[in-house]
Formats: sequence, C-alpha cells, structure tokens
Amino acid sequence: MDMPLAAGWTCAVCGAHVDIAKPFGWRCPNATDLDRHHSVQLVQAIAPLRGGDDPNPFVAFRTYLAWDSFAAANGMTETARTALVRQVGADIAAVAGVGFHVTPFERSDALSDALGFGADGGVWIKDETRQVAGSHKGRHLFTILLHLLAAESLGLAPWADAADRPPLAIASCGNAAFAAATLAAAVRWRLRVFVPPNADPVVLAGLRELRAEIVECPRRPSDPAGDPCIHRFREAVVEGAVPFTVQGTENAWCLDGGRTIGWEMARHFEEGVPGPPLDRLFIQVGAGTFAACTISGFRMSGVMPRLHAVQTDSCAPLARAWNLARQLGGPSSAAAHWSECMWPWEQVGQSAADGILDDETYDWIPVVRAMGDGRGSPIVVSEAQVLQANDLGRATTGVDASHTGTAGLAGLIAARDDIDPSERVAVVFSGVRRSGR
Ligand SMILES: [Zn+2]
Repeated sequence: MDMPLAAGWTCAVCGAHVDIAKPFGWRCPNATDLDRHHSVQLVQAIAPLRGGDDPNPFVAFRTYLAWDSFAAANGMTETARTALVRQVGADIAAVAGVGFHVTPFERSDALSDALGFGADGGVWIKDETRQVAGSHKGRHLFTILLHLLAAESLGLAPWADAADRPPLAIASCGNAAFAAATLAAAVRWRLRVFVPPNADPVVLAGLRELRAEIVECPRRPSDPAGDPCIHRFREAVVEGAVPFTVQGTENAWCLDGGRTIGWEMARHFEEGVPGPPLDRLFIQVGAGTFAACTISGFRMSGVMPRLHAVQTDSCAPLARAWNLARQLGGPSSAAAHWSECMWPWEQVGQSAADGILDDETYDWIPVVRAMGDGRGSPIVVSEAQVLQANDLGRATTGVDASHTGTAGLAGLIAARDDIDPSERVAVVFSGVRRSGR
C-alpha cells in the first residue's frame, strides 16, 4: 500500500494528535461545546511541490490531500480514490455547469499600471469567480464531501445507506452556502442552511432552486454573544448534522481542499513566471479559513510571500488579535492567548464587502502565525477603499467580482505607498456578483 503523505492533525492549542485514518474527526478531540478554543492543523512533510497536469486540481494534487491519505490509510485503492474524485467531480460539474478546475493567475498589466508598478513588478490576479459556484468556497467543501463519501463506501459511516444519511449543515447566506448547496445537490445529500433574517432574497431563491432547506435565524433573547446563525448551526450539529462548513474550527477537513488554490498559485509562479518569486499576498479575511489555506499551500511549496490579511474597519477582529498577540509573546505563541486576543467584534458595521463581516475570525491562529513567520501584517481598509477596489478591479481586469471578492485589492490600495514598484504582489478575486446589492 502507498504511504499516506498526511500524517494527521495536531491541535495548535492543546497539542492533541488525531491520526489521519480516523473518520469524522471534525474537531480537536478536546474541543467541547463550552470550550471551542481549539485549532487542529494538518501535519504534513514539506516536499517539493509537484502535481500532475490534470486540469482538475483535486486530481492533479490528489496525493497531497488529506482525504486521499485518509482513504488510503483505510484500505481504499488508488484506482478507487481517483475514480471517486472524477465521478463526484463530474456530478458537481453537471449541477454547476463547470467542474473544479485550475483557475487563471496572470499579471494584470492595466491594474499594475494604474497602481504605478514597474515592468519587473506588478499585480497578479487569481480569477476564482468562474470556479464551481463562483468562488473558492467549494474547494474547502469538496474535501469534506470526499471524506464523507470515502468513509461511507468503506463501511466506516454509522448510517446504513444513503437513505439514512444525516443532513449536512452550514451557516452562510453567501458564496459558501451556494457552494454547499451545489455540492450537496450533486450527490443528492440533504442540506440545511442557517441564514439571518435579512438575507438577500435573490441568494435565498438560488439556494432553494438547489433544494437547500433554508432556516431563518433571528436573535433569541437567550442567545449568547456572537452570530445566531452559528448558534443554530451548532445546535443542529449536536443533534447529528454533519458540519458542512468553511470554518476550520467547526470542521477541520475544509482546511484540506482549500490549499489547492495556494498550490496552484505557487506552482504557476514557480514554473510559469520568469524572474523573482512573489513578494506579497493580499487575502480578504472573514472566517480566516481562506487566508489560512492559501498561505499553507504556499508554505508547502517552500516559497512564502508576505501575507496581508485584509479586513474592513466595520469588523476587524483579526487586526485586534494581531496587535494583542504581539504584546503577549508574539504571533508564534498566539495559541496560548486565545481568550485574550480573539472574541466577537462588538459593533459590526455595514460594508459592501458583506461576505467578510464575520464577527469572529475563527481560523485566526494559522493566519497570525503565517503573518508572523513571513513578515506580513493585517490591513484594515475603509469603506471608500472597498468601493474603489471593486471599481478599479472590475474596470482593469474585466472580472465581474463582488465587493467581497475584490476586498483583497482594497488592502493593496491601502498599503500601496509602502510597497516598492518592483515588487510582485498577488490578489485573489473570488465571488461573483449575485444581486444588485
Ligand atoms: Zn485542542
């Protein structure tokens, strides 16, 4: 049998180790409903990043993925693993109109010129808006789904057959919900989506079309601080639903597939772009999972750009945590100071980038660590910069991304004066515009 590349998971907070072969190990074994301050991360040897030429990143990078190591460790053959990715990938493509694919990552000459970069430097845009369900969110969810289906076919699931499957659950009213509904529809798995009362009716109609069950979540008088959708989602999970979420603290297996975007970017820059490596990476941060995974993908390639996590001044718990962590022993020991650094943002304001207004940056520990390791920093942008970034980004690249999707560019605009024109920087546009909002 081939050796699994991923050895397992280790919690950055309590040190607990979970073997890669364990099914349904969604969270740290020491995490409880009262103590959620745990953060498991994949333990994986850093190898030269290879990968085949298959246009589907889940095929090209399959051997690096934790779900593949999980299935291999439980006796699933390589042929069966490859067949599973291809079959489910085809089912998803049938629903989404497009399958998972390596997305474009090119220098935007117009945007580079507009921002005053020189010929050697510039801005590289990863266009993720035409990925499955219009954003990177499906990448995170696909590895949860592959884990579930592999476990089911190996007889490791507690349910007898597909008819007895527990529902999937997610708290989202944006691109994550769309991705979840698309993937769930592809394999005909029941999905419950927990949304706020003011969710966009256009988005809700699209979710219903994909047969997702919408659960509206008004704040209850008895609710503790934090998002009521998250409270209802967690209650559903306690009752047996599968956390089908893009928050690593609720289901660590979403951290697996999210790395494919970082692998794609790192490999493309190394093999396809002559000259020096990438200097900086600007990533919009809501839950933090996207930034954590992207930089983790780069880290495995051996070349790590400076990471800038971008939030708006309407909701910036990560920047607050970064500043506190630096006073409390530094970014590398942030995990020891969770309660002192990260708690829900008290007064979440409005922003056109409403997909990054998570009141708590759930996956903050790997992001703070990566910024510390690579001399990066968080950037808090104004609403004017959010709007400017979307106008400029769409006008110069022609990519029809939402304000959330271009929020990383707002960070670059905010930091532009501190960046040399010869530097090479990257931004990911992720998230199509879904309504006129
Ligand atoms: Zn733990």
